[in-house]
Amino acid sequence: MTRYTARRLPKQPGSAGWNRLLPPPPPARILDGDATADIAIIGAGFAGLSAARRLIQIDPGLKVAVLEAGRVGDGPAGRNSGFMIDLPHDLASESYAGTEDRDAEQTRLTRAAIAFAAAAADDYGLGRDAFDPCGKINAAATPAGDGHNRDYAAHLAKMGEDHRLLDAAEMAALTGTEYYSSGLFTPGTVMLQPAAYIRGLAAGLTPAIALHEDSPVTGILRDGEGWRLETSRASLRAQKVILANNGHAESFGFFARRLLHFFTYASMTEPLPDGALGGARRWGATPADPMGTTVRRIDGEGGGRIVIRSRFTCDPSMEVSNSAIAAAGRLHDRKFIERFPMLAETGIQYRWAGHLCLSWNGVPAHGEVATGVFSAICQNGLGTSKGTLAGMSAAEMALGEVSEITRAFAAMEAPKRLPPEPLATIGANATLRWKEWRAGRE
Ligand SMILES: Cc1cc2nc3c(=O)[nH]c(=O)nc-3n(C[C@H](O)[C@H](O)[C@H](O)COP(=O)(O)OP(=O)(O)OC[C@H]3O[C@@H](n4cnc5c(N)ncnc54)[C@H](O)[C@@H]3O)c2cc1C
Repeated sequence: MTRYTARRLPKQPGSAGWNRLLPPPPPARILDGDATADIAIIGAGFAGLSAARRLIQIDPGLKVAVLEAGRVGDGPAGRNSGFMIDLPHDLASESYAGTEDRDAEQTRLTRAAIAFAAAAADDYGLGRDAFDPCGKINAAATPAGDGHNRDYAAHLAKMGEDHRLLDAAEMAALTGTEYYSSGLFTPGTVMLQPAAYIRGLAAGLTPAIALHEDSPVTGILRDGEGWRLETSRASLRAQKVILANNGHAESFGFFARRLLHFFTYASMTEPLPDGALGGARRWGATPADPMGTTVRRIDGEGGGRIVIRSRFTCDPSMEVSNSAIAAAGRLHDRKFIERFPMLAETGIQYRWAGHLCLSWNGVPAHGEVATGVFSAICQNGLGTSKGTLAGMSAAEMALGEVSEITRAFAAMEAPKRLPPEPLATIGANATLRWKEWRAGRE
């Protein structure tokens, strides 16, 4: 009998601030006994919940069940920096830009995903605290960063994309710090409170789907024409399965040695004292150098705060230690005080890390991986928008629909095999540390 068994289950490192700012969720509805569904989805992140929404959009009579290992909002979907970006964002490039043709197609697709998410936010009454289509800035702090911004602006001009360069004075007026030397504003990014968005999406969907949290899938077994998903105390039979558990698909043996498991790290301050920082009360800045530091100023439920994200590590074990979070935290403290010396008295309240999945050739791991099992994993750089897109596509494929989105995924290469270990991990970590050093003050 065909059987895929989970060799490990997700562990979420540190205390993710975004979810802690929200009221505690109602008790989890854990999968119990023997249940059935037409389509079962593993994972309730961007991909899983978007797949669920797309399935019932296409066929409102479909019985859809989502099994999530932990609580919605506690996984990577609720612990990211919340930039839902429409434009090219190639982390391996110096300035995020790729080739014009590929970037134009990718932008069209990510915008379809953002429109899908915007309609969901509207349908489920999510306000601007959760889903804010306000654009973002690429912030530079060195002559090299200014150069990256100019290169990226030239690339956007060739693509016919709206953008505006900001000088140091405009950046200071916006951010309240004189740290930045230039900025590049692009209007199409949505700024998410990621835990509020993903919990809002789940809550909006639950009348129409069965969502089981704290229900990690430990086995996927062929059962007649369909599949049986096992948890430690129950099972769910379904005709088809969508894998939306990102890198943990490899824990079941899918895409073995073809996925890179990265972690990135974030810190969130306690509420800022009134009047301690000038500038706008909300803004989001990605670094001009892709390996630099992302900074957000937020204002909403939980008060005004600064959120810093910096450092990537490659961890094929899919786990990171508390000491890795502490080391990233020391880096964040330095980045924070360099930018905001006026906030020296403001402490950090939350620190965490989260798992991302990339492939060597920067492509998703998508499509039918066994009869009736569809994969929507490995989002590479833009997981919030690309995860949404992958979920939409997997849902359409599972129902036999063909669209511009499914055609685009079908035309992509498969993820390439990684170099042998320990070379792959040592090489990836050495490259990351070197790029982090080269990004310097960015
Ligand atoms: C600190 C940080 C900052 C980031 N910033 C950004 C950003 O600003 N913009 C951006 O686009 N991306 C960002 N990302 C990346 C983004 O969060 C991910 O790419 C995105 O969450 C991927 O979505 P997904 O639905 O594919 O996977 P996930 O969000 O990882 O969801 C997969 C879900 O599957 C569940 N699962 C795993 N195994 C099982 C199992 N056996 N049974 C049941 N459930 C299981 C997990 O618990 C998880 O909830 C960031 C990530 C981090 C950590």
